[in-house]
Amino acid sequence: MNQEYSQKEENGKERKYQQLQLWLERAMALQTANILFEWDNETLAPKQAGACTAKVQGALALAYQELMTGEEIGKYLELCEQETELSEAEVAILREAKEERKELACIPPKEYRDYQELISESARIWAQARENQDFEAFAPTLEKIIQYQKKFSGYQAKKGQRLYDVMLDHYEKGFSIKKLDEFFQLLKKELVPFLHQIMESKVEILDDFLEGDYPQQEQKKLAEFIAEYVGFDFEKGVLAESAHPFTTNLHNRDVRMTTHYKKRMDSSLFSVIHETGHAIYELGVADELTQTLVGQGASMGMHESQSRFFENIIGRNEAFWEPIYPKLQEMFPKMLGNVSREEFVKAINKVQPGLIRTESDELTYSLHVLVRYELEKQLIEENLDVKELPELWADKYEEYLGVRPKNPAEGVLQDIHWAQGSFGYFPSYALGSAFAAQMAAYMKKNIDFEALLREGELGVIREVLRRHIHQFGKMRDSRRLLRDMTGEDFNPQYYVAYLKEKYGKLYQIEGRS
Ligand code: ZN
Repeated sequence: MNQEYSQKEENGKERKYQQLQLWLERAMALQTANILFEWDNETLAPKQAGACTAKVQGALALAYQELMTGEEIGKYLELCEQETELSEAEVAILREAKEERKELACIPPKEYRDYQELISESARIWAQARENQDFEAFAPTLEKIIQYQKKFSGYQAKKGQRLYDVMLDHYEKGFSIKKLDEFFQLLKKELVPFLHQIMESKVEILDDFLEGDYPQQEQKKLAEFIAEYVGFDFEKGVLAESAHPFTTNLHNRDVRMTTHYKKRMDSSLFSVIHETGHAIYELGVADELTQTLVGQGASMGMHESQSRFFENIIGRNEAFWEPIYPKLQEMFPKMLGNVSREEFVKAINKVQPGLIRTESDELTYSLHVLVRYELEKQLIEENLDVKELPELWADKYEEYLGVRPKNPAEGVLQDIHWAQGSFGYFPSYALGSAFAAQMAAYMKKNIDFEALLREGELGVIREVLRRHIHQFGKMRDSRRLLRDMTGEDFNPQYYVAYLKEKYGKLYQIEGRS
């Protein structure tokens, strides 16, 4: 069992570390201010604020970079190397500070500035290209971004390290191309044929009642209710609206999330449960770690594991709805009054292979990620010509999901990630689901998971996650956290088994494992 983590208190002794800490606190404050602006830009900021706010944000980012790469922090980092009695948190903070300095310092400033300019332009070019369904208009910009990304990764690479591995390392330590190839091969081998079986199944699931008369005001009330029910603390967080749902954290007393309200009620409902999962993670980081360089989630993948754990493993489970479905019927009597709980739960689990990743169901989600992983790897490691992307994208969708985009807007242009220079990010989405399934398997062995859901005792489940994952922030990496919690290294078989069990049952597929 895990020990409760707490940092040792020093008794008044003057330490080099405390000097360093003062400088790092300044850097963190600049970072926090910038994050607050980012939040504001997406939610409340007036339309015309853009250009002026960008100036402020640019200055904050520059000040942060100067501080982090500056002499003072460098001097104290060196002095701290000689400290013998550092706590685990302090060692982790030193590690992060050194890494951050290295990353900021190894790129020539002129190149970095040119790249930043390109990136701030590219989002606009991408959005325009997507609107006009015109990939050619975006291709030259994408080509340039890839060239910069490869160059920068080259600066950062250790001897012999592959460029795509450098990029992957930014988002998920311990998951190289080799490890991810194994993971995605397994998903391809197991899930593609399984999806074909489901598509041939005679089981029909109705979900038309999920769209219709769901007034926004009522959806908003539902969002607040469900966030609180799942475990969001409105004393330490807010829920706002934005075009795309996301979660931002300033520290463990201020975590902010957003949602959007659509005609289909399950869009906002599950976005809110998903973002609440992210928020609960950040709210659970230990007080000793918050507002430090290790005061946020361990990695992109680990973060996504928490949001998907709440969204899918909890939120799409029939037991979860047992105590609260009547409340839902009460809120939307016209739409759900005559829909049984069983029908509702089937509808929210309906498998529908589609073209858009962000609208995909639980089962096909990782196949969307598989397409992106394979193409990204080819772009970086095999010099795939950008011009070939739309066709290759369409072919892969047809092969894995059985659907083919008719235009690049519903194909290769749908995600903003590449336009922002985020290569190596996508695999985290699939890893998160797999981490979550491994945690769920562990939990089901140790607590009466379904009974807790049926009784509405989500606090017990949250506490298990807090104790094993949340409290440690970024101090330990995702594989270590998984190992410590489940007694096993990352094992994607749990994910495949979970999906086959759940959807085999729902679609009455013979011989499910
Ligand atoms: Zn997420």
